[in-house]
Amino acid sequence: MINVRKLAEKINIKGRLLFEEPMRYHTSFKIGGPADLFVMPSGQEELKRILAACFENSIPFFILGSGANILVSDSGIRGVVIDMENIRGIEVEGRRVSSYAGTPMTDLSLEACNNSLSGLEFIYSMPGSVGGSVWMNARCYGKSISDVLERVTIFDRNLFLQELKVKKDDFGYKVSPFQKTREIILKATFRLKPGKREESQREMDRVRRDRETKGHFLFPSAGSVFKNNRDFGMPTGKLLEKAGLKGLQVGEARISDFHANIIINTGKARASDVRELIEIAEEKVLEKFGFRLEREIIFVGEW
Ligand SMILES: Cc1cc2nc3c(=O)[nH]c(=O)nc-3n(C[C@H](O)[C@H](O)[C@H](O)COP(=O)(O)OP(=O)(O)OC[C@H]3O[C@@H](n4cnc5c(N)ncnc54)[C@H](O)[C@@H]3O)c2cc1C
Repeated sequence: MINVRKLAEKINIKGRLLFEEPMRYHTSFKIGGPADLFVMPSGQEELKRILAACFENSIPFFILGSGANILVSDSGIRGVVIDMENIRGIEVEGRRVSSYAGTPMTDLSLEACNNSLSGLEFIYSMPGSVGGSVWMNARCYGKSISDVLERVTIFDRNLFLQELKVKKDDFGYKVSPFQKTREIILKATFRLKPGKREESQREMDRVRRDRETKGHFLFPSAGSVFKNNRDFGMPTGKLLEKAGLKGLQVGEARISDFHANIIINTGKARASDVRELIEIAEEKVLEKFGFRLEREIIFVGEW
């Protein structure tokens, strides 16, 4: 058992600090056991203090964006969860839009649109923070975050701030270099094109309506469970459907009837229910088609 109480005494912060905080309150799945210590730094300085305390005391930490791509175990997370929600803010300078990591991606698209800048319409209404979306290299409607990302400011493992110029080759389909380096993303800058506000707004309305029509917001979920793979010859959702997995239920978790690559929480699903469904889907697809599915959802905590 990690002594997070001592750590909490040391990191004297203004932001929220909670013990045994249920992670189901902080994930789009509405699933997840308690975090030993849940902290919400109110700004960059507090974030740095918390990180320093974790490093000095060898206490593991998990950086939480909006919790829209994670499955937290029923036993929860040992150590510290650092919620980036209050580290937010947007700056516009010419064709560049910069934003702190905790800013919702949707707010960023909207701000770009209001400044007649085009390039972030595709990500409008996708749940997630800027930090989480850069980390995931989130992708939808044929575009990835890395298509418009120019620079990322990080805290490195020595807690030095570094501004990194994005090298496109370091990014791939739902892959970013931060998945390996485990650096903490503080801020991201996007280079956009001059656009027409009404046209951007129309496109943003279109993608939001499309997500609504597809049922994305009807139930708690974490979006697509598995990545797409060109070798499958069809979207993973179709493959799962062909494997007869639509509607399969374990406990209160269900492979949705509207999209076989989305698992929904129909009520009080447990992380173990979702995990079981994922493992069944992996086995079934391997057995029926010989394809190994790659998970997009990240398993977090003590399994
Ligand atoms: C209804 C629905 C639809 C979705 N549709 C899509 C879609 O179309 N395309 C798509 O790509 N995804 C989609 N998703 C998944 C999710 O929205 C994205 O992956 C999003 O980018 C996750 O951002 P987040 O802030 O919630 O990250 P989280 O889930 O909080 O975290 C994801 C990972 O990023 C890390 N992380 C977060 N912030 C930081 C930071 N500041 N520094 C370092 N590491 C960090 C976390 O530690 C974790 O490992 C969908 C989810 C839902 C619920």
